[in-house]
Amino acid sequence: MTEKLEGGCACGAVRYRLASAPMFVHCCHCRDCQRQTGSAFVLNALFEADRVDVSGEVAPSAMPTDSGRPHHVFRCPKCATALWSEYGGRTQVRFVRIGTLDNPSALSPDVHIYVRSKLRWVGLPPSAPAFEEYYDVRKLWPAESLARRKAAFS
Ligand SMILES: [Zn+2]
Ligand SMILES: [Zn+2]
Repeated sequence: MTEKLEGGCACGAVRYRLASAPMFVHCCHCRDCQRQTGSAFVLNALFEADRVDVSGEVAPSAMPTDSGRPHHVFRCPKCATALWSEYGGRTQVRFVRIGTLDNPSALSPDVHIYVRSKLRWVGLPPSAPAFEEYYDVRKLWPAESLARRKAAFS
């Protein structure tokens, strides 16, 4: 990957730089993501927290979830743009919102999840697998990404 992955919030107070390619990219069509973004789905690139180099302050907001698992969205306190999520209280991995990249086309989904609640008009490309709910990470992630994930949680 030659392109630098950088992004930030709408007002510019928070900027971030990603130190590598993501481990994996989710396109999530669940109802939580639809409500919380006000859109059809969310695009999340999964990174080890220490590969997300942030300048500026961010503030977490606790989101209610259908599952009851904790979900914190980290936002710019000034413009409230959502920059990344942490799920299940696991601070080692950040789910970075691809729409906040300077070039959001730089990353595309590796998997579509929770397509049971996908909006009817959204067509899915054949380039990535799609699942009614979640998927088996061990079956889908490349070995290198699995090793990174293991290292992040060790
Ligand atoms: Zn901002
Ligand atoms: Zn979701």
